Amino acid sequence: MHTITLIPGDGIGPSIADSAVRIIDAAGVKVDWERVEAGIVAIDKYKDPLPQNVLDSIKSTRVALKGPLTTPVGSGFRSVNVALRKEFDLYVNLRPSRSFEGVPSRYHDVNMVVVRENTEEFYAGIEHYIDPSRSAAETIGIVTRSGSERIIRFAYEYAQKHGRKKVTTVHKANILKYTGGLFLDVAREIAKKYPEIKSEDKIIDNMAMQMVLNPQQFDVIVTTNLFGDILSDLASGLVGGLGLAPGGNLGYTAAIFEAVHGSAPDIAGQNLANPCALVLAGAMMLRHLNEDSAADRIERAVEEVIRERTHVTRDLNPKNYVGTKEMTDAIIRRVAD
Ligand code: NAD
Repeated sequence: MHTITLIPGDGIGPSIADSAVRIIDAAGVKVDWERVEAGIVAIDKYKDPLPQNVLDSIKSTRVALKGPLTTPVGSGFRSVNVALRKEFDLYVNLRPSRSFEGVPSRYHDVNMVVVRENTEEFYAGIEHYIDPSRSAAETIGIVTRSGSERIIRFAYEYAQKHGRKKVTTVHKANILKYTGGLFLDVAREIAKKYPEIKSEDKIIDNMAMQMVLNPQQFDVIVTTNLFGDILSDLASGLVGGLGLAPGGNLGYTAAIFEAVHGSAPDIAGQNLANPCALVLAGAMMLRHLNEDSAADRIERAVEEVIRERTHVTRDLNPKNYVGTKEMTDAIIRRVAD
C-alpha cells in the first residue's frame, strides 16, 4: 500500500485526476490517496492558494500526483506550481515526449526527454517594478554552479540508466555570457565524465529550429528553467500536442508528478479533456515507486487505445471522438485484460 498525495487541481484537473486514480486502481496498485486542495479552489476555502495541509501531506507521503492549477497572468497570487517546486527543492523537471502510433502529428519517430532545471534563473521569483508608476520592471535570473551541476549530472545519469545515447545541453551563452556561460562550462566539465554518452551543446534559437526540422536527432536535452519550459511544450507539439505529455518534478526528499499542460479553462467541465498526460504522469510516478509492471501495463493500455482511434478524445480524433470518461473506461478495459 502506497500513501500518495492527490491534488486534483482546477479546470480540467479534477476530471483527469479522477481518470488517473481509476486507471491506477485498475492496474492493481493499492493506494491510500490523501486528497488535498491547492490553487483557486483552496483560496475559496482556506484563503491561501497553498495551504499548510498540502505541504504537510507531501512532507509525509514524499510523493504527489497533481492536476493542473490555474495561475493568474500578470498579477494575482504567485504560481503554486513554482512554489511547490521551491518548497521541496524539486530541482529536476523531467518531461519525456515520444510519438504514439495513431496520433495525427507531423513526426512519427520522436523520442526525447527534456531535463529542465526547475528552481533557478528567471523562475526564482526575484522581480519587481522599479517605481510605483511601473515605468520599468526587473527580473533577476540566478544560475549557480551547484544548481547547474546537479541538474546536468542528473541528465547524464538518466541517460546512462535508460540506455540513451546523447545529451544535448541548450543555452544562450553567446548573449547571456554569465548565467548561460556558467551553465555551459559546467555541462562541458560533466560531459567529460561520461565518455560513453555523446555530448553536444546548442544555442537555444538554433535548437528550436533543429527540433522542428529534424527532431529525431535528439535524445536527452538538458537546459535552464525558462528554455526548458518552452522547449518541452515544443517537444510535445512535435508528437501531437500537450494531451500526451507527462512530467515529473523530482528532488531529494519528494517528487510531484503532473501533466505538462495547464488547466485548459476553454474545455473545462465539458468531458473533452484528454486524460493521457496525467495518466502517463501516473505511470512515471509508479516507476518512481518501483511499481514497474503496473506502469508498463498502463502505458501499453494507453498506447493501444490511442492506436485504435475509436475511444479517444477530440484532440486525438476530431471526426470520431468520445469523452474523457469514455476514454478512461477504454484504457481501464485494456489495463484489466
Ligand atoms: P493549457 O495547457 O491549459 O491549454 C493550452 C491549449 O491546449 C488549450 O487550447 C487547451 O484546451 C489544450 N489542452 C491542454 N490540455 C489538454 C488536454 N488534456 N486535452 C485536450 N486539450 C488540452 O495552457 P494555458 O491555456 O496557457 O494555461 C491555462 C492555465 O493553466 C494558466 O493559468 C496556466 O498558468 C496554467 N498552467 C498550469 C500548469 C501546471 O499546473 N503545471 C502548467 C501549464 C499551465
